Amino acid sequence: MIQLYIPLNFLGVLYREIKQSLTDLDKMFVLMEREREVADKAGAPALAGLERPTVRFEHVHFAYEPSRPILHDVSFEIPAGKTVAVVGPSGSGKSTLARLLYRFYDVGIPGSPSVAGGITIAGQDIREVTQASVRRAIGIVPQDTVLFNDTVEYNIAYGRAGASRAEVEAAARAAHIHDFIRSTPKGYDTMVGERGLKLSGGEKQRVAIARTLLKDPPILIFDEATSALDSANERAIQAELESAARNKTTLVIAHRLSTVVHAHEILVMEAGRIIERGTHEALLASGGRYARMWALQQRRGDKIEPQAAIQSLP
Ligand code: ATP
Repeated sequence: MIQLYIPLNFLGVLYREIKQSLTDLDKMFVLMEREREVADKAGAPALAGLERPTVRFEHVHFAYEPSRPILHDVSFEIPAGKTVAVVGPSGSGKSTLARLLYRFYDVGIPGSPSVAGGITIAGQDIREVTQASVRRAIGIVPQDTVLFNDTVEYNIAYGRAGASRAEVEAAARAAHIHDFIRSTPKGYDTMVGERGLKLSGGEKQRVAIARTLLKDPPILIFDEATSALDSANERAIQAELESAARNKTTLVIAHRLSTVVHAHEILVMEAGRIIERGTHEALLASGGRYARMWALQQRRGDKIEPQAAIQSLP
């Protein structure tokens, strides 16, 4: 439907921005039909066995441009229903992992077909199945949600076509945005976005959480907001994300160490490599980079972001 009223040249710009920031992936979906980086193999089947999928990155190498490798031999597993968190300085490749999992790009170094590795979901290489089925299996709560110039209801219902008002409201309640919506002049019929009601960063993120809850995918990607929310809001959103992630296979791109404490595994990335990995306790005990980041954060208070902590280390 969106094709009908957004001019096509704008779509191209939007596509690039969206892909870069992982912002609005449903809109992305429409756009991918126009400008594909990756294509389905002829006769590719849909991803199957998604009851509780395990996600695996196996020796993944990746470059956007041939001359500048970004990821080097990255391997990790997100066991079914568990959360893996990625921390590291800006530019270390955290968001690239999420883009590859969503298959915005295929793994590999352009021009070097022998160096690639692979990503599997429930044991299936994501290059061998349809992109549409991969994207149906994944819900993303992005850093900065782009809202449609449409009603609140439309913006939440976008998580699942055909959702009823009752289902939209239930998702909004779970994301703790229902009361706020009810307090607006037209409730769920209030127009939002550029030409409507402007929502705060926290409210937009709650809309994204509600959308994802409605979609109810087996795999989640959380790209934690870098922009400072006030601490009360941050803790509340944190709690909502944690409850949304329960029993889902989840990748968190974390900007605050407080988020990662309960992760099944924490990956510390630097310059496209995993330089440390383990649970919070194990990483603290090993006294390496993560432990120094943590100590620094404790001294400065919880607001410090891991990137900042990492970058300010000697
Ligand atoms: P941040 O915490 O700032 O979001 P990040 O760790 O998520 O950073 P990525 O966004 O994965 O980092 O970027 C990794 C590297 O890839 C960076 O050096 C970035 O400049 C480069 N990069 C990202 N997107 C592209 C692109 N579309 N084309 C070329 N290079 C890119």
